[in-house]
Amino acid sequence: MSRRSRTLVWFRGKDLRIADHEPLIRAAADGEVIPVFVFDPYFFHPQRARKLPHRMQFLLESVNELSQNLASVGSKLVCLSGRSSKVIPEIVAAWNVSRVVAYRWVEPFGRVRDAGIARDLAVPFDLYEGETLHPPGHLRTGKGDPYSVFTPFSRAFRKEAAIPRPLPAPRDLGPVPRAALASAGEIPALAQLGIPVNPNIQQGGEAAGQKRLAEFIRGYLADYAHGRDQLGENATSRLSADIKFGTLSIRSVWWAVRELSTTKPTESAERFLTELIWRDFSYSSLWDRPELLQAPFRPAWANFPWRDDPEAWEAWVSGRTGYPVIDAAARQLTETGFMHGRARMITASFLCKHLLLDYRRGEAHFMRYLTDGDWAQNNAGWQWSAGCGCDAQPYFRVFNPVSQGQRFDPDGNYVRRWLPELSSLPARYIHNPWLAPPDILTLAGINLGDDYPEPIVDHAFARNRFLTVAKAHLNCPN
Ligand SMILES: Cc1cc2nc3c(=O)[nH]c(=O)nc-3n(C[C@H](O)[C@H](O)[C@H](O)COP(=O)(O)OP(=O)(O)OC[C@H]3O[C@@H](n4cnc5c(N)ncnc54)[C@H](O)[C@@H]3O)c2cc1C
Repeated sequence: MSRRSRTLVWFRGKDLRIADHEPLIRAAADGEVIPVFVFDPYFFHPQRARKLPHRMQFLLESVNELSQNLASVGSKLVCLSGRSSKVIPEIVAAWNVSRVVAYRWVEPFGRVRDAGIARDLAVPFDLYEGETLHPPGHLRTGKGDPYSVFTPFSRAFRKEAAIPRPLPAPRDLGPVPRAALASAGEIPALAQLGIPVNPNIQQGGEAAGQKRLAEFIRGYLADYAHGRDQLGENATSRLSADIKFGTLSIRSVWWAVRELSTTKPTESAERFLTELIWRDFSYSSLWDRPELLQAPFRPAWANFPWRDDPEAWEAWVSGRTGYPVIDAAARQLTETGFMHGRARMITASFLCKHLLLDYRRGEAHFMRYLTDGDWAQNNAGWQWSAGCGCDAQPYFRVFNPVSQGQRFDPDGNYVRRWLPELSSLPARYIHNPWLAPPDILTLAGINLGDDYPEPIVDHAFARNRFLTVAKAHLNCPN
């Protein structure tokens, strides 16, 4: 009589759901399933965890809900602590596991970890696709090279990518073996890691993600093509943390919108799907060029003469640059763990170009505070903004923080929301308070330089400084 297979389903923090979890669903069809989450000190040592407080909060809420969802279908999330490279081979041997399954990770450190574990295991370690819509490393130019420009990548994606339909959540998984139950530990509380709860962070978990997706489809999606750029309107999906932690699968987000656009494509639905393809582009770029997390894509940018200016850095981080749209973005980030996508572009450009500070410092700051902080996308966003990445913004395009504010926050609602000290300023001066006549400032209760800073750098001066330095360094003919 053949023994049923016993599969260890390893949840790894980017797949915190039971709906459309292919490794889980396929394993359940094969036999016994042991769902496992390992609290690896690489992320969960309190000193490390405190460096990503918002992501930790969202993640722990999501792991808790995953545990409840697995219990509701008769299983149990077995939580363990230790280096996963050690824990996984140990439990596979101790629990007589016949196979380990998980989702593949794109990040270089995840790939190194997985290669080591595969070597140490005496049983198969099967990695599923699903972190991205289309497996990274598959779309190639006519010459067989990885794409470095988005438009042809997107064209090839739309032609070649066959995106599987999402699978329904399993109904009954069956109990986990006694040996595994006996080893199960607790999910750490945020307080145990020394992180205070921030009530402004989005709620984690599969149910909250599904609700956000349904609400977006019923609401803001219809006007997404226009609304996505309006800073004051909150009209984007806000699904980035769900996608990052996999409380929603990327396939289910794609299909939820694709279905709507199949019979009668709308500009907004197509625009949204294009954003999801940008995400695949970032992942594919990192897959093919793992060095991107350390170095710029364009070699000419190596050793770029970034400045070191602690005061400018501190002003940017704390939202005291004197440019309202930049400062509003800084405060939105630290207070809520989110920053509007358009604001990310404007403020990243300001750090690199106006302040001439290394994009990698901004990248690390975003990774610290963004709930959706994601290595591939954040790195791509920063390299794009600095001008050194795949299909980047040309270096000589320097966003003017005043006109960007006037264009994407014309009424000043975004600024007013995050900078209450400017809330009484008329829209005409909300993006350049230093131009407001003294009586208007007095009426708005603002003592410039005291209640709110004067600009730390003049736009025209900063623009010229950057262009001069960049031209000289990149050896540009004009
Ligand atoms: C400097 C910089 C840093 C960034 N860092 C991150 C990050 O750490 N994590 C992250 O998820 N996104 C990052 N982005 C991309 C983008 O800003 C966010 O995904 C988006 O603002 C999240 O809000 P949303 O879910 O409401 O987006 P929506 O506009 O509703 O978009 C839907 C989804 O599409 C994807 N998407 C949207 N815009 C982009 C883009 N430009 N590139 C790649 N994918 C995109 C995201 O998964 C997003 O959730 C960064 C962009 C910049 C310029």
